[in-house]
Amino acid sequence: MKIAAIKGFNDILPEQAAVWRHIESVFHRVLGAWGYGEIRLPLLEYTELFARSIGGETDIVEKEMYTFSDRSGRSLTLRPEGTASMVRAWVQHTLGAPAEVGKFRYVGPMFRYERPQKGRYRQFYQLGAEVFGDESFYQDAEMLIMLARFFHEVGVEGTKLHLNSLGCQACRPHYRDELQHFLADRVDRLCDDCRRRVPQNPLRALDCKQPACREVVAVAPRILDYLDAPCREHFAGVTRLLTAAGVEYEIDQFMVRGLDYYSRTTFEFLAGELGAQNAVGAGGRYDNLVAELGGRETPAIGFAVGMERLAMLVATAAGAPPTEGGVALTALGAPAIERLFPLQQELCAAGIRALLNYREKSLKSLLKKADRDGVRYVLIVGDQELEREEATLRDMSTGEQRTVLLTEVVPTMRRMIHGRQDN
Ligand code: AMP
Repeated sequence: MKIAAIKGFNDILPEQAAVWRHIESVFHRVLGAWGYGEIRLPLLEYTELFARSIGGETDIVEKEMYTFSDRSGRSLTLRPEGTASMVRAWVQHTLGAPAEVGKFRYVGPMFRYERPQKGRYRQFYQLGAEVFGDESFYQDAEMLIMLARFFHEVGVEGTKLHLNSLGCQACRPHYRDELQHFLADRVDRLCDDCRRRVPQNPLRALDCKQPACREVVAVAPRILDYLDAPCREHFAGVTRLLTAAGVEYEIDQFMVRGLDYYSRTTFEFLAGELGAQNAVGAGGRYDNLVAELGGRETPAIGFAVGMERLAMLVATAAGAPPTEGGVALTALGAPAIERLFPLQQELCAAGIRALLNYREKSLKSLLKKADRDGVRYVLIVGDQELEREEATLRDMSTGEQRTVLLTEVVPTMRRMIHGRQDN
């Protein structure tokens, strides 16, 4: 019996992995330039970390976590997102003196027991970043401008930035009460989930996708009308800087995000081409979470971009890197294979993609394979060439052929592929 991968868990095949690698390298370059240091966090954490940070009333904690007991009976969870672990690490290592700002970036898999569909998987990868210790609106704007830059550099244009502010602990309770009253009067028109959440978490109704709920909340009180003066100023600062930087945005007061820990600025980058799962990245400020998880009062902000969704956009854009090129060493016969084997090592060591057949095959089938592999050059060595210590070098794009000495292959390929003289 064959064993298949678990539903919602994907193999990333080489062609796709090349796009991922391209995305990752741009991500590390761009975020490195903005001063974000890389951090690698564990995949497993104690369950209570997520229950306490993400919030008990959220989809993630209610029904999407991969939770199990380890052999000593502790409840562990495969991380559903990166922020909670990042905050845990920040607190645990006291990464920074009180007045210091810490900036981190990470890439890695997350796990959520969601219903798999296009753009939604049970293991998916996120490219994320978090900043601790800076509450100014400059920080929010920096992160959004940097993200816009990242999308641009990775070759994705046309994502739409949706922006909102959720206020703070001083002003949000007032809004929450107003909204709760409003929803309580219309509770019979809400879906089961929203109805159940109205007493604890009425804001969640704002981004419910059910048509009936959308109709109700369309005329609900709007959060931006309830911000206190500091939150209003903060939000105005963010939008002013975005406008000055030429980053377009749309204010979306229904966007509350599915996690409990957000405050003030929240945002999502949407891409129409993605279909139903159209959020390519999202995040926001979470000024209270560090203290809630036992750290000092520390303002913070972060985002996560979905790798699979971003890769879909990159694959349709012109940003994908070449996965081909190099040279196919086409050995006709066992002596030629033996002779070309060390040559392949030299070429690879010189950073040139070099493929060699280890089994004897006809020239025709080797040329076909070279074509499939997308190489730029084919180097053909049969018995006759071998006797003369020569090879036939064919440029696959022009069809031109020439003879080269075997001892000249590496410098020749270097010149032709890397465009540099050999010394
Ligand atoms: P979130 O942590 O829910 O704010 O998600 C941040 C980003 O991660 C989203 O905008 C998506 O691009 C991506 N994402 C979230 N959940 C999934 C999933 N189940 N499968 C694939 N990508 C996801």
